[in-house]
Amino acid sequence: MDFDNQKMMLIMELRRLGVTDMNVLEALERVPREKFVLKEYLDMAYANQPLPIGLGQTISQPLVVGAMTQALDINDRSNVLEIGTGSGYQAAILARLCRRVYTIERHKPLLDKASAVFKELGIENIIYKHADGTKGWKETSPFDAIIVTAAVEKIPEVLIEQLVDGGIMVVPVEAPRGIGGQKLLRIRKTGDTYETEKIFAVRFVPLVSGLPQ
Ligand code: SAH
Repeated sequence: MDFDNQKMMLIMELRRLGVTDMNVLEALERVPREKFVLKEYLDMAYANQPLPIGLGQTISQPLVVGAMTQALDINDRSNVLEIGTGSGYQAAILARLCRRVYTIERHKPLLDKASAVFKELGIENIIYKHADGTKGWKETSPFDAIIVTAAVEKIPEVLIEQLVDGGIMVVPVEAPRGIGGQKLLRIRKTGDTYETEKIFAVRFVPLVSGLPQ
């Protein structure tokens, strides 16, 4: 299948929708999303929508990947933590833009698949582990940026502790009960405090504590 046309259409759409950082757009152009989707969804690899990846999980919508990546403000010296490897696509995008990506996934079969794709693509700066990511990755902290790709009930203070001063975390947070939906927050740590900014409304699978049985 020839994806080039679909890919260029998608990149133009993402630009129109606010993903304007040239480095992020280049990463979206270079990372083959088709390698991270299930065979049955190959023809939708460059549609601007999330897709199932098995075990009830999804690969995020390209717009969300672009907007979250852009919001992290990373560069080639940044160390970034991702919670929720899933297909590995978001990690592969980050890997092109930063020094090192640390990523955690609680579903072993998803992590095995993702790591096989990293290997196939020759990506060497992604360090992954099979674990419950709710507590972050203390041994390899602090991080310049943290991206949580599953929804949390409230702002995870324990992860903010693992950011450098001035570091940024992007995380989808559930709206209060009754209101519904989630909002994507950009949190910037300054000293002992932090400020938050809303990016837009999103829909992520929940962050789940513990490992599957
Ligand atoms: N970033 C992914 C999309 C992730 S979907 C991609 O680019 O494809 C969210 C992922 O978070 C799922 O794979 C889910 O299993 C994982 N997850 C949920 N709770 C978790 C936890 N406590 N620790 C680690 N991973 C978790």
